[in-house]
Amino acid sequence: MPTRIVVLGAGVSGLTTAYLLSQDPDNEITVLAKHMPGDYDIEYASPWAGANYMPVGKKGSHHHAWERDTWPALQEITEKYPEAGIHFLDAIIYNRKKDQETATGQWFAELVQPNPWYKDVVPDFRELPQSQLRPEMDNGQQFRSVCINTAVYLPWLVGQCTKKGTVFKRAVLKHVADAANAHHSGIKADAVVNCTGLSSKFLGGVCDEKLLPARGQIVVVRNDPGPMIGVSGTDDGEDEALYIMTRAAGGGTILGGSYQKHNWDPLPDANLANRIMKRAIDIAPQLVKEGQGIEGLDIIRHGVGLRPLREGGPRVEKDEVARVKVVHNYGHGGFGYQASFGCAQSAVALVEEVTGKKPRAKL
Ligand code: FAD
Repeated sequence: MPTRIVVLGAGVSGLTTAYLLSQDPDNEITVLAKHMPGDYDIEYASPWAGANYMPVGKKGSHHHAWERDTWPALQEITEKYPEAGIHFLDAIIYNRKKDQETATGQWFAELVQPNPWYKDVVPDFRELPQSQLRPEMDNGQQFRSVCINTAVYLPWLVGQCTKKGTVFKRAVLKHVADAANAHHSGIKADAVVNCTGLSSKFLGGVCDEKLLPARGQIVVVRNDPGPMIGVSGTDDGEDEALYIMTRAAGGGTILGGSYQKHNWDPLPDANLANRIMKRAIDIAPQLVKEGQGIEGLDIIRHGVGLRPLREGGPRVEKDEVARVKVVHNYGHGGFGYQASFGCAQSAVALVEEVTGKKPRAKL
């Protein structure tokens, strides 16, 4: 007897969960979503992400474990499948102690501290000597990371799932339990995996009040600065961020950004965009020709995405709603890619638990 599963949501959380579930030939999977890869919409966070691996989970937390467990999978995909749109890139991280209490400083607290847990996970970790730091920086580090071209990677995940027989369907659901009746077989699904991100705040049967947006505004440019850079904060406001990353396979360079909690504005703010570009050139003058300012940037587009932040961390747990077995996997804030495989592995284990299956799904 096959196990029939509906994955609700086709962002990085839904697609990674479907990818792992699809490795088991006994699983018959339908992915159901309002938005699919190729769409750009304020209700769909995944396409807007950088996306890179810069771990932020507090040591000893589930979040820490999910990020730790994601690195080997991302590394393996990067090495084995160049067509997935991920490449290795050095990351340089700077910390200013004065950012400790700000929204961005707290978000980056684990990332920027000296001797972080992830030094044993990523390759080539090293502390930067004082001589390589600007006077305003208190400490810094460098390590090998990855940068994901989301416009290539999300469709690659769709392709991997499709190859294993997963069926993709568009639908907008009002209630999470309705997903069980939308399996492509026409038979009621044994389990629903809820990967609806920030929309779980409004989805019937879930309505999670702990969810909030952390608005991220970006500028995508054709200029290439080399390594990725992240800084604990800026002097332009405590929810304005500074990070730069060049995506694999011609995906352009993302200049970020902001981390504006409770801000739902879908439109780019021109003043903020100016500050983002100025800060990027200040920290990485190699972005433009000598003597140039923001006029030296070749802009592809401006963008805004809402990070699906959740007080207390992501919800990866089992539930039962209107007699439907549900596994939740949402609320991944600004770390949905870098925790994707760890969270999806936990979600798969919960699906196996609620459907009474023996564990077997592996990458
Ligand atoms: P989403 O991508 O929002 O997907 C939700 C899915 O559910 C969609 O398919 C949607 O259509 C569907 N859905 C919702 N409601 C319904 C409904 N009622 N019926 C049917 N379908 C529904 N993370 C990193 O790891 N590294 C980074 O460098 C990084 N950078 C980021 C930069 C920015 C500017 C932003 C905005 C985010 C960044 N993130 C990063 C965070 C990351 O993008 C998110 O954590 C992640 O995309 C969340 O994915 P998700 O699949 O949970 O949600």
